[in-house]
Amino acid sequence: MGKKLYIETLGCAMNVRDSEHIIAELTQKEDFSLTDRLEEADLILINTCSVREKPVHKLFSEIGYFNKKKKEGAKIGVCGCTASHLGEEIIKKAPYVSFVLGARNVSKITEVIKKPKAVEVDIDYDESTYAFSDFRSSPYKAFVNISIGCDKKCTFCIVPNTRGEEISIPPELIVQEARKAAKNGAKEVFLLGQNVNNYGRRFSDKERNIDFTDLLKMVSEIEEVKRIRFTSPHPLHMDDRFLEEFANNPKICKSMHMPLQSGSTRILRAMKRGYTKEWFLDRAMKLREMVPDVHISTDIIVGFPGESDEDFVDTIDVVQKVGFEQIFSFKYSPRPLTPAKDYPNQVDDAVASKRLSYLQDLHLSMLDTISQKELGKVYEVYFEELKPGGYVAGRSSNNWIIKVKGSEELLGKFVNVKITKTGRLSLEGEVLA
Ligand code: SF4
Repeated sequence: MGKKLYIETLGCAMNVRDSEHIIAELTQKEDFSLTDRLEEADLILINTCSVREKPVHKLFSEIGYFNKKKKEGAKIGVCGCTASHLGEEIIKKAPYVSFVLGARNVSKITEVIKKPKAVEVDIDYDESTYAFSDFRSSPYKAFVNISIGCDKKCTFCIVPNTRGEEISIPPELIVQEARKAAKNGAKEVFLLGQNVNNYGRRFSDKERNIDFTDLLKMVSEIEEVKRIRFTSPHPLHMDDRFLEEFANNPKICKSMHMPLQSGSTRILRAMKRGYTKEWFLDRAMKLREMVPDVHISTDIIVGFPGESDEDFVDTIDVVQKVGFEQIFSFKYSPRPLTPAKDYPNQVDDAVASKRLSYLQDLHLSMLDTISQKELGKVYEVYFEELKPGGYVAGRSSNNWIIKVKGSEELLGKFVNVKITKTGRLSLEGEVLA
């Protein structure tokens, strides 16, 4: 009889894709099948995130819970970014953990399940040309990695220490994977990397002269691919050629993530982000001018060491000028192995909390105005998911989540929808005949 695998995934889209790779390797090269019942699993995996402190704390309570609930003889493995940075410490602190597998070592999953107390966390390991087995959690959308690691050294970020230096995946492998996924029904391809528009910086097999804009053109030539999304681009690398391709290529979805982090040039310098407030505003405004319907989302950290009231006002200024459709905002969280955690001028937690609430309240009120303007508009929606209450949900090119009354017949289809009801995070509409 086959064995059962239970997997929990925390964090970003890269982790979701890593989990898909783990599932693919274990179900196709070993005798596993997926279960959503912890109690019946032979192997329990948690794919962790270490970008903020909270999920790291949560890890130990979570695996403690797994240990209590697991059936006799079941193994627990810890994977992902926290596995990379804590390594052996995890087994020391939680001896019932069978193995630790870093974010850059996913292809070794079939080995570590057989090696008691294995710790594979080499951040120099090169998986950029590894041919993973195939598994996708959605039949409609395919995540495709285009690079591993990150060469930036943002002073708040632990990722370069958990995912290592940046290596681009050869374009022919990316095109091959996108083509295969699209032929199997995934009309939307989601290109993933820590820093996608730095693509082409370094390959490990041979030199090539190609950048992210070239790659976008190549993927869009695949006939079965109807939509292309990507995350995350870096504001520094948003040159005119990239923005023009984004604006003019009809297959590229009109939704751009532009991680601002701070609106203050002084703080951006301390973060080593490589751009100024003015550069960010220039790129965002140019984008709005070129693509009037574009959605711009962002990440903002408040309370970074040294952030004064004036710096925070600069952030608010950018928020108001750009009118982001979505903001992922957080209080600065000091992370191990990062320079900013040792900066002397840490911001008082109460001050950071106040700034965060101000920012989030402001954005909620902006969202009311933004969403009201959607009433009566018509969007082409790609339907992907059944929702409770007889609804089906999908996304517009510019990333609105839109639901309509309907059934599975709509799944995987592009349908025009007229918006009849607005909300801050999603819209509701009627299918047009
Ligand atoms: S670009 Fe900066 S924030 Fe993004 S993963 Fe790299 S180091 Fe971290």
